[in-house]
Amino acid sequence: MENYIVSARKYRPTTFESVVGQRALTTTLKNAIATGKLAHAYLFCGPRGVGKTTCARIFAKTINCMSPTADGEACNQCESCTAFNEQRSYNIHELDAASNNSVDDIRQLVEQVRIPPQIGKYKVYIIDEVHMLSASAFNAFLKTLEEPPRHAIFILATTEKHKILPTILSRCQIYDFNRINVDDTVAHLAYVASKEGITAEPEALNVIALKADGGMRDALSIFDQVVSFTGGHISYKSVIENLNVLDYEYYFRLTDHFLANQVGDALLLLNDVLNKGFDASHFVTGLSSHFRDLLVSKDPATLALLEVGASIRERYQAQAQKCPLPFLYRAMKLCNDCDLNYRASKNKRLLVELTLIQVAQLTAEGDDVSGGRSPKQSIKPIFSQPAAAQQPQAATAMPQAQATTNAAPARPQPAQQAPAAQAAPASPQSQQPFGSQAAMRPTPTAVLMAQGKEEKKIPVMKMSGLGVSIKHPRIDEEKKQTSETIAQQNTQPEEDFIFNEKDVNYYWQEYAGRLPQEQTALAKRMQVIRLAMLDAVTFEAVVENEIAAKEFTDLIPTLQGYLRKRLKNSKATMTVRVSAPTEKVRAYSRVEKFQLMAQKNNALLQLKDEFGLELY
Ligand SMILES: [Zn+2]
Repeated sequence: MENYIVSARKYRPTTFESVVGQRALTTTLKNAIATGKLAHAYLFCGPRGVGKTTCARIFAKTINCMSPTADGEACNQCESCTAFNEQRSYNIHELDAASNNSVDDIRQLVEQVRIPPQIGKYKVYIIDEVHMLSASAFNAFLKTLEEPPRHAIFILATTEKHKILPTILSRCQIYDFNRINVDDTVAHLAYVASKEGITAEPEALNVIALKADGGMRDALSIFDQVVSFTGGHISYKSVIENLNVLDYEYYFRLTDHFLANQVGDALLLLNDVLNKGFDASHFVTGLSSHFRDLLVSKDPATLALLEVGASIRERYQAQAQKCPLPFLYRAMKLCNDCDLNYRASKNKRLLVELTLIQVAQLTAEGDDVSGGRSPKQSIKPIFSQPAAAQQPQAATAMPQAQATTNAAPARPQPAQQAPAAQAAPASPQSQQPFGSQAAMRPTPTAVLMAQGKEEKKIPVMKMSGLGVSIKHPRIDEEKKQTSETIAQQNTQPEEDFIFNEKDVNYYWQEYAGRLPQEQTALAKRMQVIRLAMLDAVTFEAVVENEIAAKEFTDLIPTLQGYLRKRLKNSKATMTVRVSAPTEKVRAYSRVEKFQLMAQKNNALLQLKDEFGLELY
């Protein structure tokens, strides 16, 4: 055990080929290197532990390799590669913006950027968690990012792409890393296990992969944890015990109880699970996932959404055949309700038990209905659009429901049901159970679903919060801040970001590009205007005549508002000016270009006439 290295480090990929689960992306990077089309800045986005930093390092090594292989990988033998592999290369600098986000940190980095590499061609700067840079640090960095020396390449990495400022996005080539799927994770864990001389049951690795939720680093650390616990043989049983994961077995048995309407057995099973120390809410979410997995197993088309090992897959398919679709929809809905109400509930066990009782009675009710009574209530809840949108797999599986259960005579649908029915077609029979359910419970599904959605709050970016721009040159203007501007800054506590002519033109064109069809004329006029910076925050649009000037002056509030938002600068100011007669602001048309060229070289006219060319 001396010199123990965690698997995530020991088996960190050193070539693009060995990176797991990001094939498309690594191929693109390799091609870029092979064809010499390197950008100065890259942005790697994606969840934690999926290989962003690893790819950045491989990239740095490969572009510095002195004799890359035919398929675009680093040779791992030359001086540069060896230095990288022994972690003594001076051509790679890593900065974790989460802990080094001050202006000084960035200034240091910017200083370093100027020094060219001793060996190899490029110096690569990896800035991890780049969204954590403070506004002033960011401003200090922007200039370098815009005009880096030839030998510098920046790789910015982030887990939160939505927090990246547009001024960065527009300067980077963006690569989106995926969560690594379960199959790829299992395959890699199996590889590591074989290298380490550890035997592992595929189902056990599957549980680890599911638990890691798409992150290889997490998967490998869970793997290490299980290895140390089991000492060389990883079995399914040992994994679920060690990771406190509920056995699939419980859910299969429980579902059988539900289908047989055995309320008592279901409650006993719950008791068993709770006695083993499992959390009841954990149990309920597991049950929801089980129903969801059964649902996707029903249809070969959605089977790909089932992320379990091969042996369990068959069991899912077998049990899915026994479950009527309406049962699955309603069971998922009941479990979801239980999950949502769990935290608020004072008697959590009762809430779970009640849910189990309701689920266990679903098929009993269903029999009752098909026994002849005509459906009375109009039905809304589970087929409302939010539900359908949240569960696309349910929607795809539903046409089958129609085909298999359409025996009941068609019945005109109430008008209010129409949109829901459109989103998710289902037969009256399959809808019926929800109707009775809706009468029992007053809470509309749509509301619950909306609550569920809102729980995923998008975190708000935090800037160093002075609210005053230190880069801003017009200090005296800032001194006369009225209470009004202070109030404005309360709502916008972030520091203003600096921008240049390129930025403002970029968003100007972006705005033009986003205008609707009806405003094509305006879009065209905007597209030929180049904005010029007058000072740090003021820019002017030069137009041809008074009419255009009037038009754009009227548009200032709208355009300026848009640009302020996009530039993240509340002081960005737009002015309009009519061009002096000597200025030629309008872009030349093709015909005009030709005429100008022909004035200089008469042969062009001859060429045109000789070949009978037409100008368009
Ligand atoms: Zn090499």
